[in-house]
Amino acid sequence: MRESYWGKYTRTFDAEVMQRVIIEMVEEAGVEVLLRATVVDTVMKDGVMNGLIIRTKSGESLVLAKAFVDASGDGDVAALAGAKFMLGRDGDGLTQPITSYFRVLNVNVPALIADCEANRADMWEVVYPKEAGDRNEDYAMAVLLTGFQQRIKDKVAEGFDWIIPKDHITIKTGLIPGEISVNVTRFQGNGLDDRDLSRAEIEIRKQAYCAFDILHRYVKGFETAIFLEVAPKLGIRETRRVTGQYVLTETEVRGNARFEDAIGLCNSPVDVHEPGGSKAIMDHVGVGYGIPYRCMVRSRSTI
Ligand SMILES: Cc1cc2nc3c(=O)[nH]c(=O)nc-3n(C[C@H](O)[C@H](O)[C@H](O)COP(=O)(O)OP(=O)(O)OC[C@H]3O[C@@H](n4cnc5c(N)ncnc54)[C@H](O)[C@@H]3O)c2cc1C
Repeated sequence: MRESYWGKYTRTFDAEVMQRVIIEMVEEAGVEVLLRATVVDTVMKDGVMNGLIIRTKSGESLVLAKAFVDASGDGDVAALAGAKFMLGRDGDGLTQPITSYFRVLNVNVPALIADCEANRADMWEVVYPKEAGDRNEDYAMAVLLTGFQQRIKDKVAEGFDWIIPKDHITIKTGLIPGEISVNVTRFQGNGLDDRDLSRAEIEIRKQAYCAFDILHRYVKGFETAIFLEVAPKLGIRETRRVTGQYVLTETEVRGNARFEDAIGLCNSPVDVHEPGGSKAIMDHVGVGYGIPYRCMVRSRSTI
């Protein structure tokens, strides 16, 4: 069985097929969609939220409803409604860095795997299906290669201009033959600050070209590679963490704690990209821990 620190499988999917499926599901459900609408305020009465102010190209509008789901990724709606939240780590308030993947085409995947096997001591992880070809055919498990730390160091010593504040590279295959996604860019900034976000867009692009350059020059399989794209949207790992009635602790996560009111189980590793640094923690948690319902429910005093 192929296995990585993510467990037995990591999955890959076709983003365009996903978009088609989402459109079909939304239309089947009869949902009215209003794209490009930004929530700018909430309307509260007696501590209960009953309206949103949204801004679109047509101007501002009021949206009334019995219930709202904050799917902003940043807890924007919860914060506007006065919910308590945490931001960044204790001490310096830094969050995990911003990272966008980039995609490359025309990679010779078997040659890349052979290169990683030949440099096994420099790789933390070399996971691939037996007989892996240029395409990840089974949709269930991508080729997953993490490391290249020593190679980066050596090339820097020879004068290569490595501008990325991260000391290793992760590579996965996609569904297109010869397609590779690369996880390496890293920008330290506040995902709630427009200036940081703008700088991140620019710096992450420069870093992606830098990483492509080192792969293209010094890793086998990339000789005829084509740089396809940087992810169309910045990858923000962490901004506000809205505080519920209960806060799950690291000890509970690592100790596989179970709860009467669990809404699900999770065994994703403890996966922390060092705020302000170049390292990453990736620790197995075993069979997994419960996520208590109370984590999702605001305490009476918070809004
Ligand atoms: C490189 C990277 C690797 C990751 N790896 C993993 C992993 O292995 N496992 C894992 O579990 N997680 C991982 N994550 C984290 C995971 O990707 C995110 O937690 C998840 O995508 C967040 O999804 P979301 O739907 O909550 O928010 P988002 O995908 O950010 O969607 C939020 C949406 O709300 C919109 N929006 C924002 N503000 C407003 C507003 N005020 N009004 C209206 N609309 C608004 C945005 O435009 C966006 O469309 C990773 C993240 C990164 C960057």
